[in-house]
Amino acid sequence: MSAKVPADKEQAARLAAELRAKIDHHSHRYYVLDAPEITDAEFDGLLRALQSVEAAYPELVAPDSPTQRVGGAPAEGFGRVAHPTPMLSLGNALSLDELKAFDARVKSGLGSDTAEYVVELKIDGLAINLLYEGGRLIRGATRGDGVYGEDVTANVRTIRAVPLTLRGGYPARLEVRGEVFLPRREFERINKGREAAEEALFANPRNAAAGSLRQLDPRITADRALDIFVYGVGVREGVELATHAETLAYLASLGFKTNPHYRVYPTIEEVAAYCESWADKRADLPYDIDGLVVKVNSLADQATLGFTAKDPRWAIAYKFPAEQAVTTVEDIIVSVGRTGVLTPTAVLKPVRLAGTTVSRAALHNEDYIRDKDVHIGDTVLVHKAGEIIPEVVAVLAERRTGAEREFAIPAACPECGSPVVRQPGEAAHKCTNPSCPAILREGLFHFVSRDAMDIDGLGPAIVTALLAAGLVRDAADLYALTKEQLLPLERMGEKSAQNLIEAIDKSRQAGLARALFALGIRFVGVKAAGILARRFGDVDAIARATADDLTAIEEIGPKIAGSVVAWFAAPENLALVARLRRAGVKLTEERSTEDAPRPLAGKTFVLTGTLAAMTRGEAAARIEQLGGKVAGAVSKKTDYVVAGEEAGSKLDKAGKLGVAVLDEAGFEELLKSVADMV
Ligand code: NAD
Repeated sequence: MSAKVPADKEQAARLAAELRAKIDHHSHRYYVLDAPEITDAEFDGLLRALQSVEAAYPELVAPDSPTQRVGGAPAEGFGRVAHPTPMLSLGNALSLDELKAFDARVKSGLGSDTAEYVVELKIDGLAINLLYEGGRLIRGATRGDGVYGEDVTANVRTIRAVPLTLRGGYPARLEVRGEVFLPRREFERINKGREAAEEALFANPRNAAAGSLRQLDPRITADRALDIFVYGVGVREGVELATHAETLAYLASLGFKTNPHYRVYPTIEEVAAYCESWADKRADLPYDIDGLVVKVNSLADQATLGFTAKDPRWAIAYKFPAEQAVTTVEDIIVSVGRTGVLTPTAVLKPVRLAGTTVSRAALHNEDYIRDKDVHIGDTVLVHKAGEIIPEVVAVLAERRTGAEREFAIPAACPECGSPVVRQPGEAAHKCTNPSCPAILREGLFHFVSRDAMDIDGLGPAIVTALLAAGLVRDAADLYALTKEQLLPLERMGEKSAQNLIEAIDKSRQAGLARALFALGIRFVGVKAAGILARRFGDVDAIARATADDLTAIEEIGPKIAGSVVAWFAAPENLALVARLRRAGVKLTEERSTEDAPRPLAGKTFVLTGTLAAMTRGEAAARIEQLGGKVAGAVSKKTDYVVAGEEAGSKLDKAGKLGVAVLDEAGFEELLKSVADMV
């Protein structure tokens, strides 16, 4: 949010006052109460808006403006302590360009063409100042307003990773800065407990960490596994350090926990590349980071650059795009999928989120909506789950006006009006009409899709048009289409009609694996379809298979097996398969040994002597094909010795060890009996 700066000074002053009031309110909620009402991105937007007004009208800058101040005032209830050296905030870079601008400022400040940087993860917790005297922890304080913080020593002592006494060569007085945070799993555990106790949930691990550290009762803090990474020093009487990287190593040597992911780079381009590399990787960390911190490595250069009122000039926070956003639920719509399941989706007021605009959020099912208590008209916090599908994180109930409406899954299918039921034990509601137009349509979308029959040029629009024109009712009808039938469809030219007919024709050869997946049998995904196709080789063999036959395959569990058996038991499905076959769709697949059963798995054979019907090599190949192993020498682990004519010492050894011996006829019989199992 970058508000326009008014051209009129009076208006600008009013806007600045308004923004300051808002920022003060939200800072209090965030820093003092640990209960923010808006997202960080919204808050930063307010702050940036105020910065631009103040930049245009410097006379409006007051020393108590939030743009000049760090954090929030210390809360009452804790002792107020002065930091030996002030604790500052950090300026933000929201893009790579802003990082480059920072680099330019640093170089001009140093009067140099080069600058070396340290890049560290920006741990999303809260800053802490630890004071050691004579190597002993004497105080832990929050940042507060940067000058005065809250004395949380008793709570800090409960953090295992905070050394209470230092190792090695420590100075008489040392001030150490770090970030206290909650690992994600601990955050989830705490929120679960709060949910069970019907207490308000923490919005994110940062707020939970702050809420846990700023407890008046240290026993509560002790119960939460807070952790810490340290990244800097304040007062450090008599300790000679030249660079920030050295500082980190020194802190580690005293027994502090430093974060291992820092790097030193000689150019901002390398710094930027490292920052970018964390955009995805950060999801794998066990704790949250909200960006990276870039610092000038040389401490002498840091001293030259100095500070603004609020931030050091030698450091900047590179922040990732916001992954949470606030918007409103304009409607909740319900769609029917190819299995007949009704899925509710929130229609959102479009909002920017992690680099894209989102206007839909998955709501999954009725229980989910009830759990989250989502109403139509609600203001919600959304985020991207797994970075792709937006989800509702929470409803901001305090923003309700009373005009919100509750939502329920309709009792009648929105597509065909048939009754909707919810099977006991299942979360999903389903349409009871097997010929529901939505089921047919979605089934066809699936049939032609990339991983299924992969029919080029047959997207949802054309499928919908074909259904509307009554040209197809199911997948088999596609193969009877003619070019003449296609031509009257909207936006269908001669050439595209021809291409489509050719693409449909080509799909006849897609093979059983794709066809099986295309049929849309519940639980049969691409992988299971491939296994079944190669294992059975023919759709009829699959149709005949019992649940036991199917579960005998390692990768096929009872859920898939039950679904396959049920699908092929329905006469209308068998009729569809028959019509596809008649239309020339290939319903066979080459059987591969890889997926073939391995009845000899775990058995070791030794071959000796000459066989009449096959060479030793061929015999070995047969054994291996059936999953057995062929060894060169007889041992106690040998299961069978196959002895042909003129067998020698191996046969004798088999006798001594009591290993079973097969002559050629016996071997043939074994092969035949196990081959029948295949
Ligand atoms: P900041 O979080 O943007 O950056 C400074 C802080 O980064 C330091 O104080 C330190 O605690 C931390 N940090 C983590 N790793 C570090 C490292 N390796 N080196 C140095 N510092 C490191 O600034 P801020 O002033 O602490 O807080 C502003 C943040 O709080 C913003 O993200 C803002 O959106 C949020 N905020 C939100 C609301 C709200 O209502 N949602 C209100 C106020 C503030």
